[in-house]
Order: sequence, then structure tokens, then C-alpha cells
Amino acid sequence: MKETILKTFAEVFGDAEGAKAYFAPGRVNLIGEHTDYNGGHVFPCALTIGTYGVARKRNDNKLRFYSMNFEHLGVIESSLEDLVPSKEANWTNYPKGVIWAFGEKGMKVTSGMDLLLNGNIPNGSGLSSSASVEVLTGYILRDFFGFDVTNQDLALIGQFSENKYNKVNCGIMDQFAIAMGKKENAIFLDTATLEYEYAPIHLENAKIVIACSNKKRGLGDSKYNERRSECETALAELQQVVKIKTLGDLDEETFEKFKAIIKSDVRRKRAKHAVYENQRTILAVEALKNNDVKLFGELMNASHVSLRDDYEVTGIELDTLVEEAWKVDGVIGSRMTGAGFGGCTVSIVKDEAIDTFIEQVGKAYKEKIGYAADFYVVEIGDGPQTL
Ligand code: ADP
Ligand code: MG
Repeated sequence: MKETILKTFAEVFGDAEGAKAYFAPGRVNLIGEHTDYNGGHVFPCALTIGTYGVARKRNDNKLRFYSMNFEHLGVIESSLEDLVPSKEANWTNYPKGVIWAFGEKGMKVTSGMDLLLNGNIPNGSGLSSSASVEVLTGYILRDFFGFDVTNQDLALIGQFSENKYNKVNCGIMDQFAIAMGKKENAIFLDTATLEYEYAPIHLENAKIVIACSNKKRGLGDSKYNERRSECETALAELQQVVKIKTLGDLDEETFEKFKAIIKSDVRRKRAKHAVYENQRTILAVEALKNNDVKLFGELMNASHVSLRDDYEVTGIELDTLVEEAWKVDGVIGSRMTGAGFGGCTVSIVKDEAIDTFIEQVGKAYKEKIGYAADFYVVEIGDGPQTL
């Protein structure tokens, strides 16, 4: 890959002298969905697929961007004087947002750059290609300008840029999982405190398989904001009777005791998911520590049911992928991952069942939904790196 991207960089920008190649992973969340803005736990891992980049510092203020994933857009030019989000900037709003965010945090970027990207994560599918681009850009800026920031800071700066520059109301999970990724480990992260712990994933004779529904999120963004505000209201209602800062502070028992104070059935279901999913995530990590992959899988399945019935963020595409997966012998667990309404599912599948899984789930999905899903057998990889 390094050679291909350096060669393309030279074709696009004249030569590749002084240019360096980088990589930042994508991520998948194994369990703990829609808990990250509810003060709960998440359990994501970085992947060996992600975003490759080649960058070179310039002597002027120009920013020149090219993505091999958006070839038809050609080179998109801008400058350090023009760090304002715009429709015309298209995908370059992501790297520009990070350059802007460094400036906001007192680390001014003083010269321009040429940047080429080539990602092998599907865009807009919930594997966080946007956070991958952000962390990659932050990593490059630190390398170029020697900014005194940790990988965790790169995650926070990435999230800040996505929230403020790109106006996407995301939690910290994506950027954190990417910036802090560690080979063969998932990250057990408390989103309320940013305390985290690496948990080794030893799936003997099994792999993580991602199925991409190829359904674009569509209405997803507005529904996402709706869920966030439903949870905020439910939290405010619960706070009248119990002293908590977030829904993540509640265990199942306490929730059951006080849930009647929540005035709508819908909000009660949303809050229930946030509380139970957080507890499930804690249990799931415990199960892994005890080498109980079977229990881990059952908790993944329960997570999907809760996201389908209580949080209502799945939809026919994700439900079909998961329900078909559950029918296949050798599937340890399967659930939707990411924000929902489209995007991907994550499954743990025994090695000998992977081919059948892809064939059977793929066929049933195409028959029912009318177009094909894509499957990725993935490995857990490291965080951002210089190639
Ligand atoms: P997700 O993060 O789930 O993949 P988003 O909609 O948040 O989905 O982010 C996808 C957007 O991120 C793309 O539309 C594009 O603007 C940007 N992006 C991601 N990967 C690349 C890439 N390799 N090259 C250029 N832009 C990219
Ligand atoms: Mg994203």
C-alpha cells in the first residue's frame, strides 16, 4: 500500500520528495452501543483496515487535498486562511476541521500541506472512517509541527473538530478507539471519566466478521439527536428522585426501582437500554477475562435485541443481517454496531463457519433486501502510525 500511495501522490502533486506515509485504523465497537453519550462504558477495538495517507509540508499557506476514494473531485485546494466549513470543501472539511481545532487549542499550524488519502474502510458505514481521517490528520500535524499532544489528546481534538467544525454531535468513542488502538486488544472505556483498560481478545478458532448493510444512514442523524435528547430528558426526570450524573451511574435494580418517574413509555425504554447496555458491557468484559466467549456472544445478542426493541435504532437491514447470522451454526454472537439505522453488524464466528456465514447471510440478505451486503473478516490492529 505504501508504494501505491506514494506513487499516486507523485502523480497528483508532481513528485513525492519529502513526503511521508501514514496510517490510522477504523474501529468497530464490540458491545456498549449508544452508551457513550450516556456516561456509560464502551468496548471498541481498532482494526487493521483504515485510512492511509501521504503528506508533505509546504512552504506557503496552501492546503491541497486529494482522496483516492473521491477521485472524481480531483485536487481540492484551500488555505490556512480559509478554515471555515463549507459544502464545496466536501470531505476536506474533516482534515481542515482538525487543523482548525489545533489552532483553537493554541497550537497554530504555520504552514500548508499536500495530503493524499486512501481508505479501505467503507465510508459512512459506522466503522468510523471520519474519525480515522481526523486522527490521521492530527497524527500528521503532531509529526510535522512537534505539538506536545498525546494520542488521547489526538482523540479529543478529533472529536472537538467533528463536533464544532463538522457539526456532528458524536461522542468520544470513535476517536479514542482509533487513537489508542492496540493490536489484539479491545478498549474498555468509561466514557464519563475516560478511564480505560486494554482487554486482550483471544478468540481461539474464531474471528470477527463485519457485515456492511450498504444501507446509508439517511434519516439516521436526526434520529441520533432524537435519542440523545430522549435520554437527556429521562435523566432529568430520574434526577428528581435519585442522585446521579448520568444514566451510566445506574444499575438495573436502581433503574427498575425509580423508572416510574419517567413520564413516557418511549423515554423509559430508551433509558432502560442505556442502563442495561452499560451493565451488559461491564459483564461482557468480565466474561472475556474469564475466557467465557460463549457468554460474551450471548451478551452481544442481548445488546442487539435491546437496540432493536427498546432503543429502536436497527431497521430491517440490520435486523435481517443479525437474525440470519443467529441461524448459522458456529456464530458465537452477532449484533448491530455503530449508530444504527444502517451501517454494519459485528459477529464472532468460528473459523470453520465463516464461509457458510458469508454465503448464507449474504444470500438471505440479498433475497429480502434486494441488494447485496459486504463482508469483512477483520483483525484488531494498532493505533495511528508512520509507515
Ligand atoms: P463513518 O465515520 O461511519 O464512516 P461518516 O459519514 O461519519 O461515516 O464519515 C464519512 C465521511 O468521512 C466521508 O463522506 C468523507 O467525507 C470522509 N472520509 C472518510 N474516509 C475518507 C477518505 N479515505 N478520503 C476522503 N474522505 C474520507
Ligand atoms: Mg463518522
